[in-house]
Amino acid sequence: MNAAFNGSIETYISPQTRAFLVRQHRLFIDGKWVEATDSGTMAVLDPATGRQIATAAAGGRGDIDLAVKAARRAFEQGPWRRTTTGDRGRLLWTLADLIEKHAEELAELDVLDEGSPYATVRNGYVADAIKHLRYYAGWATKINGQSVPVDNPNEWHVYTRREPVGVVGQIIPWNVPLLMAVWKISPALAAGCTIVLKPAEDTPLSAVRLGELVQEAGIPDGVLNIVTGDGSVGAALVEHPDVDKIAFTGSTATGKRIAQTAAGTLKRVSLELGGKSPIFVFPDADLKAVIPAAAGAVYLNSGQACTAGSRLYIHRKVHDEVVARITEYTKSLKLGHGLDRATDLGPLVSERQMNRVTGFLDEGRRDGATFVVGGERHGSEGFFVEPTVLTEVLDTMSIAREEIFGPVISAMRFDDDDDVEALVRRANATEYGLAASIWTSDVKLAHRMAHAIRAGVVWINGYNLFDPNLPFGGFKQSGWGREMGFDGLSLYTESKSVAVAL
Ligand code: NAD
Repeated sequence: MNAAFNGSIETYISPQTRAFLVRQHRLFIDGKWVEATDSGTMAVLDPATGRQIATAAAGGRGDIDLAVKAARRAFEQGPWRRTTTGDRGRLLWTLADLIEKHAEELAELDVLDEGSPYATVRNGYVADAIKHLRYYAGWATKINGQSVPVDNPNEWHVYTRREPVGVVGQIIPWNVPLLMAVWKISPALAAGCTIVLKPAEDTPLSAVRLGELVQEAGIPDGVLNIVTGDGSVGAALVEHPDVDKIAFTGSTATGKRIAQTAAGTLKRVSLELGGKSPIFVFPDADLKAVIPAAAGAVYLNSGQACTAGSRLYIHRKVHDEVVARITEYTKSLKLGHGLDRATDLGPLVSERQMNRVTGFLDEGRRDGATFVVGGERHGSEGFFVEPTVLTEVLDTMSIAREEIFGPVISAMRFDDDDDVEALVRRANATEYGLAASIWTSDVKLAHRMAHAIRAGVVWINGYNLFDPNLPFGGFKQSGWGREMGFDGLSLYTESKSVAVAL
Protein backbone atom coordinates (compact mmCIF):
# COMPACT_ATOMS: atom_id res chain seq x y z
CA MET A 1 0.00 0.00 0.00
CA ASN A 2 1.42 3.39 -0.80
CA ALA A 3 0.86 6.69 0.93
CA ALA A 4 -2.24 8.82 0.48
CA PHE A 5 -2.20 11.22 -2.43
CA ASN A 6 -0.20 14.33 -1.63
CA GLY A 7 -0.10 16.13 -4.98
CA SER A 8 -2.35 18.91 -6.06
CA ILE A 9 -5.60 17.85 -7.73
CA GLU A 10 -5.13 20.73 -10.17
CA THR A 11 -2.56 18.75 -12.13
CA TYR A 12 -4.92 15.81 -12.54
CA ILE A 13 -8.19 17.41 -13.63
CA SER A 14 -9.39 18.78 -16.95
CA PRO A 15 -9.88 22.54 -17.48
CA GLN A 16 -13.67 21.90 -17.61
CA THR A 17 -13.64 20.32 -14.15
CA ARG A 18 -11.45 23.11 -12.81
CA ALA A 19 -13.92 25.69 -14.14
CA PHE A 20 -16.89 23.75 -12.75
CA LEU A 21 -15.46 23.50 -9.24
CA VAL A 22 -15.01 27.24 -8.78
CA ARG A 23 -18.50 28.10 -9.97
CA GLN A 24 -21.22 29.04 -7.47
CA HIS A 25 -23.60 26.07 -7.71
CA ARG A 26 -27.31 26.49 -7.55
CA LEU A 27 -30.56 24.57 -7.51
CA PHE A 28 -32.15 23.54 -10.81
CA ILE A 29 -35.85 24.43 -10.69
CA ASP A 30 -38.16 24.83 -13.67
CA GLY A 31 -35.24 25.01 -16.10
CA LYS A 32 -33.50 27.81 -14.19
CA TRP A 33 -30.47 27.81 -11.92
CA VAL A 34 -31.51 29.56 -8.73
CA GLU A 35 -30.06 30.22 -5.31
CA ALA A 36 -31.65 28.47 -2.35
CA THR A 37 -34.47 30.71 -1.04
CA ASP A 38 -32.61 31.23 2.23
CA SER A 39 -29.26 31.52 0.34
CA GLY A 40 -28.05 28.35 2.07
CA THR A 41 -24.81 26.75 0.91
CA MET A 42 -22.82 23.69 1.88
CA ALA A 43 -19.15 22.81 1.56
CA VAL A 44 -18.18 19.93 -0.72
CA LEU A 45 -15.09 18.04 0.47
CA ASP A 46 -12.59 15.84 -1.32
CA PRO A 47 -12.62 12.73 0.90
CA ALA A 48 -9.03 11.86 -0.06
CA THR A 49 -7.73 15.07 1.49
CA GLY A 50 -10.59 16.37 3.65
CA ARG A 51 -10.21 19.73 1.89
CA GLN A 52 -13.07 21.78 0.48
CA ILE A 53 -13.19 21.66 -3.32
CA ALA A 54 -16.50 23.36 -4.10
CA THR A 55 -19.60 24.97 -2.64
CA ALA A 56 -23.09 23.67 -3.39
CA ALA A 57 -26.48 25.18 -2.68
CA ALA A 58 -28.30 23.88 0.38
CA GLY A 59 -32.00 23.95 -0.43
CA GLY A 60 -34.84 23.93 2.06
CA ARG A 61 -38.54 23.18 2.36
CA GLY A 62 -39.50 26.25 0.26
CA ASP A 63 -37.24 25.13 -2.59
CA ILE A 64 -38.79 21.67 -2.54
CA ASP A 65 -42.20 23.29 -2.82
CA LEU A 66 -41.11 25.36 -5.84
CA ALA A 67 -39.54 22.30 -7.46
CA VAL A 68 -42.65 20.16 -6.91
CA LYS A 69 -44.86 22.93 -8.36
CA ALA A 70 -42.60 23.10 -11.44
CA ALA A 71 -42.68 19.32 -11.83
CA ARG A 72 -46.47 19.32 -11.47
CA ARG A 73 -46.86 22.03 -14.13
CA ALA A 74 -44.54 20.17 -16.49
CA PHE A 75 -46.52 16.99 -15.90
CA GLU A 76 -50.09 18.36 -16.13
CA GLN A 77 -49.88 21.30 -18.51
CA GLY A 78 -46.34 21.50 -19.74
CA PRO A 79 -44.71 20.09 -22.83
CA TRP A 80 -43.83 16.72 -21.27
CA ARG A 81 -47.46 15.63 -21.57
CA ARG A 82 -47.44 16.51 -25.26
CA THR A 83 -44.00 15.06 -26.03
CA THR A 84 -44.42 11.96 -28.16
CA THR A 85 -42.99 8.73 -26.83
CA GLY A 86 -40.58 8.75 -29.77
CA ASP A 87 -39.30 12.18 -28.75
CA ARG A 88 -39.03 11.08 -25.13
CA GLY A 89 -36.78 8.25 -26.25
CA ARG A 90 -34.77 10.57 -28.47
CA LEU A 91 -34.20 13.04 -25.61
CA LEU A 92 -32.96 10.26 -23.33
CA TRP A 93 -30.62 9.10 -26.08
CA THR A 94 -29.36 12.67 -26.57
CA LEU A 95 -28.68 12.91 -22.83
CA ALA A 96 -26.71 9.65 -23.04
CA ASP A 97 -24.66 11.12 -25.92
CA LEU A 98 -23.91 14.23 -23.85
CA ILE A 99 -22.82 12.14 -20.87
CA GLU A 100 -20.54 10.23 -23.23
CA LYS A 101 -19.13 13.50 -24.58
CA HIS A 102 -18.44 14.76 -21.05
CA ALA A 103 -17.56 11.38 -19.53
CA GLU A 104 -14.10 12.42 -18.43
CA GLU A 105 -15.38 15.48 -16.60
CA LEU A 106 -18.25 13.60 -14.94
CA ALA A 107 -15.85 10.87 -13.85
CA GLU A 108 -13.48 13.46 -12.36
CA LEU A 109 -16.33 15.05 -10.43
CA ASP A 110 -17.39 11.73 -8.88
CA VAL A 111 -13.78 10.83 -8.06
CA LEU A 112 -13.32 14.17 -6.31
CA ASP A 113 -16.65 14.00 -4.54
CA GLU A 114 -16.85 10.33 -3.56
CA GLY A 115 -13.26 9.07 -3.78
CA SER A 116 -13.37 5.97 -6.01
CA PRO A 117 -10.46 5.32 -8.41
CA TYR A 118 -10.77 7.11 -11.76
CA ALA A 119 -10.74 3.97 -13.95
CA THR A 120 -13.55 2.38 -11.91
CA VAL A 121 -15.66 5.50 -12.25
CA ARG A 122 -14.90 6.31 -15.90
CA ASN A 123 -14.97 2.77 -17.33
CA GLY A 124 -17.48 1.33 -14.91
CA TYR A 125 -20.01 3.74 -13.47
CA VAL A 126 -20.10 6.46 -16.15
CA ALA A 127 -20.15 3.84 -18.92
CA ASP A 128 -23.02 2.06 -17.11
CA ALA A 129 -24.94 5.33 -16.80
CA ILE A 130 -24.74 5.80 -20.59
CA LYS A 131 -25.87 2.20 -21.19
CA HIS A 132 -28.74 2.64 -18.77
CA LEU A 133 -30.09 5.78 -20.42
CA ARG A 134 -29.91 4.18 -23.87
CA TYR A 135 -31.69 1.09 -22.59
CA TYR A 136 -34.59 3.12 -21.17
CA ALA A 137 -34.64 5.38 -24.25
CA GLY A 138 -35.74 2.22 -26.08
CA TRP A 139 -38.53 1.53 -23.56
CA ALA A 140 -40.22 4.93 -24.05
CA THR A 141 -41.92 3.66 -27.24
CA LYS A 142 -42.79 0.22 -25.88
CA ILE A 143 -44.96 0.87 -22.84
CA ASN A 144 -47.89 -1.24 -23.94
CA GLY A 145 -51.24 -1.88 -22.36
CA GLN A 146 -53.23 -5.01 -23.03
CA SER A 147 -56.44 -5.91 -24.73
CA VAL A 148 -58.39 -7.87 -22.10
CA PRO A 149 -60.85 -10.59 -23.13
CA VAL A 150 -63.53 -10.19 -20.43
CA ASP A 151 -66.35 -12.66 -19.88
CA ASN A 152 -68.72 -11.05 -22.41
CA PRO A 153 -66.43 -9.73 -25.18
CA ASN A 154 -69.31 -9.05 -27.57
CA GLU A 155 -70.70 -6.45 -25.17
CA TRP A 156 -67.48 -4.90 -23.89
CA HIS A 157 -64.22 -3.85 -25.47
CA VAL A 158 -61.73 -3.68 -22.61
CA TYR A 159 -58.12 -2.62 -22.55
CA THR A 160 -55.47 -1.40 -20.12
CA ARG A 161 -53.15 1.58 -20.40
CA ARG A 162 -49.91 2.18 -18.57
CA GLU A 163 -49.81 5.81 -17.54
CA PRO A 164 -47.00 7.72 -15.84
CA VAL A 165 -47.41 7.78 -12.06
CA GLY A 166 -46.95 11.57 -12.03
CA VAL A 167 -44.56 13.75 -10.02
CA VAL A 168 -41.78 11.65 -8.57
CA GLY A 169 -39.38 12.49 -5.74
CA GLN A 170 -36.08 10.64 -6.07
CA ILE A 171 -33.61 10.57 -3.18
CA ILE A 172 -30.17 9.07 -3.69
CA PRO A 173 -27.12 8.20 -1.54
CA TRP A 174 -23.51 9.28 -1.86
CA ASN A 175 -22.09 6.07 -3.22
CA VAL A 176 -21.71 5.98 -7.02
CA PRO A 177 -23.43 9.38 -7.35
CA LEU A 178 -23.84 9.83 -11.12
CA LEU A 179 -24.94 6.26 -11.74
CA MET A 180 -27.42 6.40 -8.84
CA ALA A 181 -28.97 9.54 -10.33
CA VAL A 182 -29.17 8.01 -13.81
CA TRP A 183 -30.58 4.71 -12.49
CA LYS A 184 -33.36 6.75 -10.97
CA ILE A 185 -34.17 9.29 -13.67
CA SER A 186 -33.98 7.01 -16.76
CA PRO A 187 -37.08 4.83 -16.20
CA ALA A 188 -39.05 7.75 -14.73
CA LEU A 189 -38.40 9.93 -17.78
CA ALA A 190 -39.07 7.03 -20.19
CA ALA A 191 -42.43 6.48 -18.47
CA GLY A 192 -43.37 10.16 -18.81
CA CYS A 193 -43.04 11.21 -15.16
CA THR A 194 -41.55 14.49 -13.96
CA ILE A 195 -38.96 14.53 -11.24
CA VAL A 196 -37.55 16.29 -8.21
CA LEU A 197 -34.13 14.74 -7.58
CA LYS A 198 -32.44 15.10 -4.18
CA PRO A 199 -28.74 14.09 -4.36
CA ALA A 200 -26.81 13.19 -1.21
CA GLU A 201 -25.30 16.11 0.71
CA ASP A 202 -21.82 14.56 0.54
CA THR A 203 -21.83 14.18 -3.26
CA PRO A 204 -23.92 16.80 -5.10
CA LEU A 205 -21.51 17.72 -7.92
CA SER A 206 -22.18 15.25 -10.73
CA ALA A 207 -25.95 15.66 -10.26
CA VAL A 208 -25.57 19.41 -10.79
CA ARG A 209 -23.55 18.77 -13.95
CA LEU A 210 -26.19 16.25 -15.03
CA GLY A 211 -28.82 19.00 -14.68
CA GLU A 212 -26.82 21.19 -17.07
CA LEU A 213 -26.68 18.34 -19.59
CA VAL A 214 -30.41 17.70 -19.21
CA GLN A 215 -30.94 21.32 -20.19
CA GLU A 216 -28.51 21.05 -23.11
CA ALA A 217 -30.26 17.87 -24.32
CA GLY A 218 -33.48 19.88 -24.68
CA ILE A 219 -35.51 18.11 -22.01
CA PRO A 220 -38.24 20.67 -21.27
CA ASP A 221 -38.17 22.98 -18.25
CA GLY A 222 -39.58 21.53 -15.05
CA VAL A 223 -39.30 17.88 -16.16
CA LEU A 224 -36.21 17.29 -14.02
CA ASN A 225 -35.61 19.54 -11.01
CA ILE A 226 -32.61 19.12 -8.73
CA VAL A 227 -32.58 20.32 -5.14
CA THR A 228 -29.28 19.72 -3.35
CA GLY A 229 -29.27 19.72 0.44
CA ASP A 230 -29.29 17.47 3.48
CA GLY A 231 -31.70 14.87 4.81
CA SER A 232 -34.26 17.48 5.87
CA VAL A 233 -34.68 18.39 2.17
CA GLY A 234 -35.34 14.72 1.42
CA ALA A 235 -37.85 14.61 4.27
CA ALA A 236 -39.66 17.69 2.88
CA LEU A 237 -39.96 15.92 -0.47
CA VAL A 238 -41.41 12.80 1.16
CA GLU A 239 -43.91 14.89 3.14
CA HIS A 240 -45.02 17.01 0.18
CA PRO A 241 -48.69 16.29 -0.57
CA ASP A 242 -48.31 16.86 -4.31
CA VAL A 243 -45.65 14.21 -4.87
CA ASP A 244 -47.11 10.97 -6.24
CA LYS A 245 -44.21 8.67 -5.63
CA ILE A 246 -40.90 8.46 -3.78
CA ALA A 247 -38.02 6.37 -5.08
CA PHE A 248 -35.25 6.07 -2.52
CA THR A 249 -31.81 4.50 -2.33
CA GLY A 250 -29.99 4.66 0.97
CA SER A 251 -29.88 3.14 4.40
CA THR A 252 -32.55 0.82 5.75
CA ALA A 253 -33.12 3.14 8.72
CA THR A 254 -33.94 6.11 6.45
CA GLY A 255 -36.01 3.84 4.18
CA LYS A 256 -38.22 2.89 7.12
CA ARG A 257 -38.68 6.53 8.07
CA ILE A 258 -39.64 7.35 4.49
CA ALA A 259 -42.17 4.50 4.31
CA GLN A 260 -43.78 5.74 7.54
CA THR A 261 -43.98 9.35 6.36
CA ALA A 262 -45.19 8.44 2.87
CA ALA A 263 -48.04 6.45 4.42
CA GLY A 264 -49.57 9.80 5.45
CA THR A 265 -50.43 10.56 1.82
CA LEU A 266 -50.28 6.96 0.54
CA LYS A 267 -47.60 7.86 -1.97
CA ARG A 268 -46.15 5.02 -3.98
CA VAL A 269 -42.77 4.10 -2.52
CA SER A 270 -39.89 2.05 -3.89
CA LEU A 271 -36.80 1.43 -1.77
CA GLU A 272 -33.30 0.17 -2.52
CA LEU A 273 -31.68 -0.31 0.88
CA GLY A 274 -28.76 -1.98 2.59
CA GLY A 275 -27.39 -5.50 2.51
CA LYS A 276 -25.14 -8.00 4.26
CA SER A 277 -24.52 -10.31 1.36
CA PRO A 278 -23.02 -13.80 1.81
CA ILE A 279 -20.46 -15.47 -0.45
CA PHE A 280 -20.06 -19.28 -0.22
CA VAL A 281 -16.82 -20.87 -1.39
CA PHE A 282 -16.94 -24.67 -1.80
CA PRO A 283 -13.80 -26.83 -2.10
CA ASP A 284 -14.44 -27.51 -5.81
CA ALA A 285 -14.54 -23.79 -6.68
CA ASP A 286 -12.03 -22.29 -9.09
CA LEU A 287 -9.94 -20.47 -6.49
CA LYS A 288 -8.09 -18.46 -9.13
CA ALA A 289 -11.39 -16.80 -9.95
CA VAL A 290 -12.66 -16.68 -6.35
CA ILE A 291 -9.85 -14.54 -4.93
CA PRO A 292 -10.17 -11.36 -7.04
CA ALA A 293 -13.98 -11.70 -7.14
CA ALA A 294 -14.44 -12.18 -3.38
CA ALA A 295 -12.00 -9.34 -2.66
CA GLY A 296 -13.58 -7.12 -5.32
CA ALA A 297 -17.01 -7.87 -3.87
CA VAL A 298 -15.97 -5.96 -0.75
CA TYR A 299 -13.25 -3.61 -1.92
CA LEU A 300 -15.21 -2.12 -4.83
CA ASN A 301 -15.86 1.48 -3.83
CA SER A 302 -13.95 0.75 -0.61
CA GLY A 303 -16.87 -1.36 0.55
CA GLN A 304 -19.37 1.43 0.04
CA ALA A 305 -21.67 -0.68 -2.10
CA CYS A 306 -25.05 -2.03 -1.11
CA THR A 307 -24.13 -5.39 -2.63
CA ALA A 308 -20.79 -5.65 -0.78
CA GLY A 309 -20.09 -9.36 -0.21
CA SER A 310 -19.21 -8.81 3.41
CA ARG A 311 -19.88 -12.32 4.80
CA LEU A 312 -17.38 -14.75 3.32
CA TYR A 313 -18.25 -18.39 4.15
CA ILE A 314 -15.37 -20.70 3.22
CA HIS A 315 -15.34 -24.50 3.38
CA ARG A 316 -12.88 -25.77 5.98
CA LYS A 317 -10.84 -27.64 3.34
CA VAL A 318 -9.93 -24.45 1.47
CA HIS A 319 -10.37 -21.92 4.29
CA ASP A 320 -6.70 -21.32 5.06
CA GLU A 321 -5.69 -21.19 1.40
CA VAL A 322 -8.45 -18.73 0.50
CA VAL A 323 -7.65 -16.51 3.49
CA ALA A 324 -3.91 -16.57 2.67
CA ARG A 325 -4.52 -15.65 -0.96
CA ILE A 326 -7.05 -12.92 -0.18
CA THR A 327 -4.61 -11.52 2.38
CA GLU A 328 -1.83 -11.45 -0.19
CA TYR A 329 -4.19 -9.78 -2.67
CA THR A 330 -5.23 -7.26 -0.02
CA LYS A 331 -1.63 -6.37 0.80
CA SER A 332 -0.99 -5.63 -2.87
CA LEU A 333 -3.69 -2.95 -3.04
CA LYS A 334 -2.57 0.67 -3.31
CA LEU A 335 -4.58 3.19 -1.32
CA GLY A 336 -4.58 6.69 -2.63
CA HIS A 337 -6.36 9.55 -4.30
CA GLY A 338 -8.78 8.36 -6.96
CA LEU A 339 -7.23 10.71 -9.50
CA ASP A 340 -3.86 8.98 -9.07
CA ARG A 341 -3.99 6.31 -11.79
CA ALA A 342 -1.97 3.89 -9.61
CA THR A 343 -4.68 3.83 -6.93
CA ASP A 344 -6.67 0.63 -6.36
CA LEU A 345 -8.66 1.75 -3.34
CA GLY A 346 -9.91 5.22 -2.46
CA PRO A 347 -11.07 6.74 0.82
CA LEU A 348 -14.45 6.48 2.47
CA VAL A 349 -16.78 9.31 1.60
CA SER A 350 -16.61 11.26 4.86
CA GLU A 351 -15.12 11.43 8.31
CA ARG A 352 -18.45 10.18 9.66
CA GLN A 353 -18.30 7.03 7.52
CA MET A 354 -14.63 6.49 8.38
CA ASN A 355 -15.42 6.65 12.08
CA ARG A 356 -18.40 4.36 11.61
CA VAL A 357 -16.23 1.73 9.93
CA THR A 358 -13.40 1.95 12.47
CA GLY A 359 -16.08 1.72 15.18
CA PHE A 360 -17.23 -1.63 13.72
CA LEU A 361 -13.58 -2.76 13.61
CA ASP A 362 -13.25 -1.93 17.31
CA GLU A 363 -16.35 -4.02 18.02
CA GLY A 364 -14.87 -6.91 16.02
CA ARG A 365 -11.68 -6.64 18.08
CA ARG A 366 -13.65 -6.68 21.35
CA ASP A 367 -15.71 -9.65 20.11
CA GLY A 368 -12.53 -11.67 19.47
CA ALA A 369 -12.18 -11.71 15.66
CA THR A 370 -8.65 -12.25 14.33
CA PHE A 371 -7.22 -9.36 12.30
CA VAL A 372 -5.16 -10.94 9.52
CA VAL A 373 -4.45 -7.70 7.70
CA GLY A 374 -5.64 -4.09 8.05
CA GLY A 375 -7.95 -2.92 10.80
CA GLU A 376 -6.95 0.72 11.18
CA ARG A 377 -7.43 4.12 9.70
CA HIS A 378 -4.84 4.68 6.94
CA GLY A 379 -2.75 7.84 7.21
CA SER A 380 -3.89 11.05 8.83
CA GLU A 381 -5.09 12.96 5.77
CA GLY A 382 -8.43 12.18 4.19
CA PHE A 383 -10.81 9.43 5.25
CA PHE A 384 -8.99 6.19 4.43
CA VAL A 385 -9.49 2.84 6.15
CA GLU A 386 -7.13 -0.06 5.48
CA PRO A 387 -8.63 -2.98 3.56
CA THR A 388 -9.18 -5.53 6.28
CA VAL A 389 -9.46 -9.32 6.46
CA LEU A 390 -10.96 -10.77 9.64
CA THR A 391 -11.10 -14.47 10.48
CA GLU A 392 -12.61 -16.50 13.33
CA VAL A 393 -15.71 -14.37 12.91
CA LEU A 394 -18.93 -15.78 14.37
CA ASP A 395 -22.38 -15.25 12.84
CA THR A 396 -23.43 -13.56 16.07
CA MET A 397 -20.78 -10.79 16.01
CA SER A 398 -21.91 -7.34 14.91
CA ILE A 399 -19.30 -7.35 12.10
CA ALA A 400 -21.14 -10.38 10.67
CA ARG A 401 -24.61 -8.94 11.13
CA GLU A 402 -24.49 -5.21 10.46
CA GLU A 403 -23.83 -3.40 7.24
CA ILE A 404 -20.32 -1.97 7.73
CA PHE A 405 -20.14 -0.15 4.38
CA GLY A 406 -16.34 -0.28 4.44
CA PRO A 407 -13.48 -2.46 3.08
CA VAL A 408 -13.90 -5.26 5.60
CA ILE A 409 -14.05 -9.00 4.83
CA SER A 410 -15.45 -11.20 7.59
CA ALA A 411 -14.37 -14.79 6.90
CA MET A 412 -16.26 -17.69 8.46
CA ARG A 413 -15.99 -21.46 8.07
CA PHE A 414 -18.34 -24.24 7.15
CA ASP A 415 -17.80 -27.98 7.00
CA ASP A 416 -18.91 -31.20 5.30
CA ASP A 417 -21.45 -31.66 8.11
CA ASP A 418 -23.24 -28.50 7.01
CA ASP A 419 -25.87 -29.61 4.50
CA VAL A 420 -27.50 -27.22 2.05
CA GLU A 421 -30.31 -26.45 4.50
CA ALA A 422 -27.85 -25.48 7.23
CA LEU A 423 -25.90 -23.22 4.86
CA VAL A 424 -29.06 -21.58 3.58
CA ARG A 425 -30.18 -20.97 7.16
CA ARG A 426 -26.88 -19.16 7.80
CA ALA A 427 -27.22 -17.14 4.60
CA ASN A 428 -30.76 -16.16 5.51
CA ALA A 429 -30.08 -15.34 9.17
CA THR A 430 -30.07 -11.61 8.48
CA GLU A 431 -32.68 -8.90 8.19
CA TYR A 432 -31.27 -8.09 4.74
CA GLY A 433 -31.79 -9.91 1.43
CA LEU A 434 -30.04 -8.04 -1.34
CA ALA A 435 -27.43 -10.30 -2.95
CA ALA A 436 -25.56 -13.59 -2.54
CA SER A 437 -22.86 -15.51 -4.37
CA ILE A 438 -22.01 -19.22 -4.62
CA TRP A 439 -18.71 -20.62 -5.87
CA THR A 440 -18.72 -24.28 -6.86
CA SER A 441 -18.51 -26.48 -9.94
CA ASP A 442 -21.49 -28.53 -8.70
CA VAL A 443 -24.35 -27.18 -10.79
CA LYS A 444 -27.05 -28.90 -8.75
CA LEU A 445 -25.75 -27.52 -5.47
CA ALA A 446 -25.40 -24.01 -6.91
CA HIS A 447 -28.98 -23.90 -8.18
CA ARG A 448 -30.45 -25.43 -5.01
CA MET A 449 -28.76 -22.76 -2.95
CA ALA A 450 -29.65 -19.99 -5.39
CA HIS A 451 -33.32 -20.95 -5.11
CA ALA A 452 -33.35 -21.18 -1.31
CA ILE A 453 -31.41 -18.03 -0.43
CA ARG A 454 -33.75 -15.10 0.13
CA ALA A 455 -32.00 -12.38 -1.86
CA GLY A 456 -32.89 -10.24 -4.87
CA VAL A 457 -29.91 -11.46 -6.87
CA VAL A 458 -27.73 -14.56 -6.64
CA TRP A 459 -24.51 -14.74 -8.64
CA ILE A 460 -23.04 -18.19 -9.29
CA ASN A 461 -19.26 -18.26 -9.85
CA GLY A 462 -19.27 -14.50 -10.29
CA TYR A 463 -20.13 -11.24 -8.55
CA ASN A 464 -21.69 -7.85 -9.28
CA LEU A 465 -23.17 -8.47 -12.69
CA PHE A 466 -25.45 -5.48 -13.27
CA ASP A 467 -27.31 -4.93 -16.48
CA PRO A 468 -30.03 -2.42 -17.36
CA ASN A 469 -32.22 -5.38 -18.40
CA LEU A 470 -31.71 -7.35 -15.16
CA PRO A 471 -34.09 -6.53 -12.29
CA PHE A 472 -32.28 -5.49 -9.13
CA GLY A 473 -33.58 -4.97 -5.61
CA GLY A 474 -33.98 -6.56 -2.24
CA PHE A 475 -35.96 -9.15 -0.30
CA LYS A 476 -36.83 -8.44 3.33
CA GLN A 477 -35.38 -5.20 4.75
CA SER A 478 -33.23 -4.61 1.67
CA GLY A 479 -36.08 -2.88 -0.05
CA TRP A 480 -39.36 -2.67 -1.91
CA GLY A 481 -39.61 -3.15 -5.66
CA ARG A 482 -37.09 -3.88 -8.40
CA GLU A 483 -35.17 -1.38 -10.49
CA MET A 484 -33.90 -2.09 -14.03
CA GLY A 485 -35.63 -3.94 -16.82
CA PHE A 486 -39.38 -3.69 -17.25
CA ASP A 487 -39.80 -4.04 -13.46
CA GLY A 488 -37.91 -0.75 -13.06
CA LEU A 489 -40.14 0.95 -15.59
CA SER A 490 -43.31 -0.35 -13.96
CA LEU A 491 -42.35 1.46 -10.73
CA TYR A 492 -43.16 4.65 -12.62
CA THR A 493 -46.46 3.63 -14.22
CA GLU A 494 -50.02 3.15 -13.05
CA SER A 495 -52.25 0.65 -14.80
CA LYS A 496 -55.65 1.93 -15.92
CA SER A 497 -58.47 -0.27 -17.21
CA VAL A 498 -60.81 1.20 -19.83
CA ALA A 499 -64.08 -0.58 -20.66
CA VAL A 500 -66.22 0.42 -23.64
CA ALA A 501 -69.79 -0.89 -23.87
CA LEU A 502 -70.32 -2.04 -27.46
P1 NAD B 1 -28.95 7.71 4.11
O1 NAD B 1 -30.17 6.91 4.23
O2 NAD B 1 -28.43 8.40 5.29
O3 NAD B 1 -29.10 8.86 2.99
C1 NAD B 1 -29.53 8.60 1.69
C2 NAD B 1 -30.22 9.84 1.16
O4 NAD B 1 -31.39 10.09 1.93
C3 NAD B 1 -29.41 11.13 1.23
O5 NAD B 1 -29.68 11.89 0.07
C4 NAD B 1 -29.94 11.83 2.46
O6 NAD B 1 -29.81 13.23 2.43
C5 NAD B 1 -31.41 11.44 2.39
N1 NAD B 1 -32.11 11.46 3.68
C6 NAD B 1 -31.58 11.36 4.92
N2 NAD B 1 -32.58 11.40 5.85
C7 NAD B 1 -33.74 11.50 5.17
C8 NAD B 1 -35.11 11.57 5.56
N3 NAD B 1 -35.49 11.51 6.84
N4 NAD B 1 -36.05 11.65 4.60
C9 NAD B 1 -35.70 11.67 3.30
N5 NAD B 1 -34.43 11.65 2.87
C10 NAD B 1 -33.46 11.54 3.79
O7 NAD B 1 -27.92 6.70 3.51
P2 NAD B 1 -26.41 6.99 3.17
O8 NAD B 1 -25.64 6.83 4.44
O9 NAD B 1 -26.30 8.26 2.43
O10 NAD B 1 -26.10 5.76 2.16
C11 NAD B 1 -25.59 4.55 2.55
C12 NAD B 1 -26.67 3.49 2.60
O11 NAD B 1 -27.33 3.36 1.35
C13 NAD B 1 -26.12 2.12 2.89
O12 NAD B 1 -26.86 1.54 3.92
C14 NAD B 1 -26.31 1.34 1.58
O13 NAD B 1 -26.49 -0.03 1.70
C15 NAD B 1 -27.47 1.99 0.99
N6 NAD B 1 -27.46 1.83 -0.47
C16 NAD B 1 -28.32 0.95 -1.04
C17 NAD B 1 -28.31 0.75 -2.41
C18 NAD B 1 -29.26 -0.20 -3.07
O14 NAD B 1 -29.41 -0.14 -4.27
N7 NAD B 1 -29.89 -1.10 -2.35
C19 NAD B 1 -27.44 1.49 -3.20
C20 NAD B 1 -26.58 2.38 -2.60
C21 NAD B 1 -26.61 2.55 -1.21
